[in-house]
Amino acid sequence: MKEVRSAAPWSIGLLGGGIAGLALAALLGERGHAVTVYERDRVGGKLRRITVGGLAFDTGPSLFTFPEVWRALLARLGEPDPLDLRPLPGGLGVHHTPFGAAPLPVPPGHPLHPAWEAYRAPARPLAGHLTTLLTTPPRLSDPTFRRGSAALFRATGGQPTAEGWVRARRLPPALTHAVGTHALNAGLTPQDAPALYALIPALAADAVFRPARGMGALLDALLAFAAARGVQVEEGAEVARVDPRTARLTLSGGEERRHDLLVSALDPARLAGVLGRPVRSPVARRTVSGVALYAALPGDAGLPPTSVLPPADFARFRAAVRAGALPPDTLALVHADGPRLAVLLTAPATARDLRPEHPWVRAQVGRVERTLGVPGLLASARDVLALPPRHYAAGGHPGGAIYGAALPAWRGGPLHPQPYRPRPRLWQVGTGVHPGGGLPAILGGALIVDTLLGESGV
Ligand SMILES: Cc1cc2nc3c(=O)[nH]c(=O)nc-3n(C[C@H](O)[C@H](O)[C@H](O)COP(=O)(O)OP(=O)(O)OC[C@H]3O[C@@H](n4cnc5c(N)ncnc54)[C@H](O)[C@@H]3O)c2cc1C
Repeated sequence: MKEVRSAAPWSIGLLGGGIAGLALAALLGERGHAVTVYERDRVGGKLRRITVGGLAFDTGPSLFTFPEVWRALLARLGEPDPLDLRPLPGGLGVHHTPFGAAPLPVPPGHPLHPAWEAYRAPARPLAGHLTTLLTTPPRLSDPTFRRGSAALFRATGGQPTAEGWVRARRLPPALTHAVGTHALNAGLTPQDAPALYALIPALAADAVFRPARGMGALLDALLAFAAARGVQVEEGAEVARVDPRTARLTLSGGEERRHDLLVSALDPARLAGVLGRPVRSPVARRTVSGVALYAALPGDAGLPPTSVLPPADFARFRAAVRAGALPPDTLALVHADGPRLAVLLTAPATARDLRPEHPWVRAQVGRVERTLGVPGLLASARDVLALPPRHYAAGGHPGGAIYGAALPAWRGGPLHPQPYRPRPRLWQVGTGVHPGGGLPAILGGALIVDTLLGESGV
């Protein structure tokens, strides 16, 4: 569809100053609109700068994948890349499966290398199409989207779930387990995630990055792009009520603001709350939450940048998180960077205040330390900060589900149109509306919504 440029700037109220909200604010500012971002807390959402034991940490995302999506955003803004993305040694990291360790990517000479090559062969033709799928509105009338979705269908061979796709490949068990783990990075087990997730290691393992100045550089860049386009950012401004007919909103202090249009970059369940609608989110229908531990160590732990400890049994893990119970062994991601250590433990989305001294957290940390051969590592830390499910629930989905509601496999991924525009004067962007997990999905989602807004005359 041809884009219709608006003649006059619109006053747009953007709810939520996470990465999705800021990215879309910059894009709308680029079109000349007057944008105000309302953020209940500090900007950045799940990605924020904290200090632990005198060391700076960036919370939330640690792996920057599919950088072409970021480059597509830069191209639309006409900006050079300020991030200085550096490849992360070891890619997606060593996966300590019950069947042995599997580094992803598997390097030549490793016994799993031939199986790794066989595994990723069907994904190769998809590589060139993934950016299109992540950044283009899903419409069969669009030939580029049609080509991309056809490539995805060919690569997934009609398997609906990640588990089904991996099983059909008949890979060695260590590789099957390691690949299946990546479905969990989008908050769903391999039994529940679309088949595309089983292809993510094949598509991303060789190209995992981090900005030279840490992930916080992404937040800085988006804030700078937004400021240069006149975007007003209000922190500590919680939106309590929204009237989508008049595009009027009320802040929690009672102050009213009027706009021509509203865009929510909140989790859809939170948006339902401010619209005065009942919020339905049974725990079995949520993606997972987590306990993120940020530790300032006395020195370099000597660990690889990324280590992954999957649950030993995905079926048992699934049963636990769907029942809201703590799984006996959970997915643990360990990121080490000199004296900085981040241990991310997957937990059910029940808004629990799980602290480092909680017996379950201690047991999971013990498992990490035993597996990586670093006993007492966390106890040696000068300081540890924990962000539990309760933290993620405060600004996100009920229970602290990191990726919002768990959609059925056929609705997840980039093929299904999402509720971009639930009301004529209310649009949506962000994790809960662009399923797929992390930054590529939400940055691509911001581009999709910007395209659709442009086509609608905004
Ligand atoms: C531990 C962890 C590890 C991760 N690892 C990776 C990774 O390695 N790679 C990757 O790509 N992704 C990763 N992710 C995912 C990535 O961080 C998220 O997808 C992304 O940050 C979500 O951005 P968002 O803007 O959609 O949502 P959010 O960051 O949740 O932003 C929503 C914002 O809305 C605000 N808000 C809520 N209610 C209101 C209200 N009523 N009024 C005003 N404001 C409100 C919130 O305070 C928040 O700032 C990780 C996430 C976590 C938590």
